[in-house]
Amino acid sequence: MEEVVAGIDIGGTNTTIGLVSKAGRVLAKDGLKTKHFPEIADFVIAANQIINKQIENLRQDSPELTLKGIGIGAPNANPFKGTIENAPNLSWRGIVPLAKLMSDSLQVHCKLTNDAKAAALGEQQFGAAKGMKDFLVITLGTGLGSGIIANGSLVYGHDGFAGELGHVIVVPSGRLCGCGRQGCLETYVSATGLVRTYRELNPETSPEMDARAVAELAKAGDTIAIEAYRRTGEMLGFSLANSVAYTSPEAIFLFGGLIRAGEILFKPTREAFEKNLLNNYKGHIKIQPSALHESDAAVLGAASIIWNE
Ligand SMILES: [Zn+2]
Repeated sequence: MEEVVAGIDIGGTNTTIGLVSKAGRVLAKDGLKTKHFPEIADFVIAANQIINKQIENLRQDSPELTLKGIGIGAPNANPFKGTIENAPNLSWRGIVPLAKLMSDSLQVHCKLTNDAKAAALGEQQFGAAKGMKDFLVITLGTGLGSGIIANGSLVYGHDGFAGELGHVIVVPSGRLCGCGRQGCLETYVSATGLVRTYRELNPETSPEMDARAVAELAKAGDTIAIEAYRRTGEMLGFSLANSVAYTSPEAIFLFGGLIRAGEILFKPTREAFEKNLLNNYKGHIKIQPSALHESDAAVLGAASIIWNE
């Protein structure tokens, strides 16, 4: 009997739903627009229809196939309660008991966690962190997320919300953050942070400028874009050097759109990292890209919440 896990990645714009085998193969994958479902009940129905359809299709070749569970990666997820709590980028207000709604509807067990924590589990289960017990995964998208694995397990903290490296204040009274405070790391190190830096260096920048465009400019040799990346990497490396003191990781994996710039980001990051590390740690902590394929990583990460149990 073959088992599969459904992995669901919920983002502010898109939701991706896939079926994942124990070996980490994505056997089916579909998407839906999160914003088309302002009511959570309608979202649950649509997601379950997709999962049922995917299973039906796979059963044509493997009639014995069963659904072992559902893993969900979502912003503001409370892994202890299975809820999404006051997520600013989602239209569902208040506290949404998503795990219960999904498992009631599909009669299968469901767990959810924050998307960056899911990414860390995915890296451990299926990616470059196989066999590692202590590492960090940093997701660099619109914001900065982090998943910390220490002594082999994800660090949740007492309420499930540990690992908010994106909201560590790195510049007192610095840039205004979406969380309402000033100077958080993600206001400097993220797609939006990179664009803010670029704009500071070049006030003539058109309002349409986005991180992808800054990356293209940097790759083409544009000195302002390269400088924007250098400052981003410097801030990231410095912050990672500090974060090492808490868990002494073997490696740090970077994931997300920002790392498409490759060495333009990694070089200044590694330099600032080594420069600011305590002597004990110098020279033996790797900073490297995630080994998960970008288009599958979110679904793999979500599914690994169940496969990791
Ligand atoms: Zn913040």
